[in-house]
Amino acid sequence: MFTLQHVVVVCTCTHSKRDHRCTKSTPRGVCLVCDCMAFTPETICECKHGKKAHSKGRCHEGDGCKQFRPISK
Ligand SMILES: [Zn+2]
Ligand SMILES: [Zn+2]
Ligand SMILES: [Zn+2]
Repeated sequence: MFTLQHVVVVCTCTHSKRDHRCTKSTPRGVCLVCDCMAFTPETICECKHGKKAHSKGRCHEGDGCKQFRPISK
């Protein structure tokens, strides 16, 4: 296990992991808020913000990030 930084993992359905029925046996559970069938982590940028924050290219969170740079692990 690597230490997670303070990143909120958001599903592609825009709901957080807490909104999904995720258990150890079923880590990709269904969404409890919408009809998303499985938790699919949204790609996040190196500035820790998701694609939505970069909808206009630069990050609208004001961290100076100019373009979406997906974290590749
Ligand atoms: Zn979802
Ligand atoms: Zn959802
Ligand atoms: Zn960014």
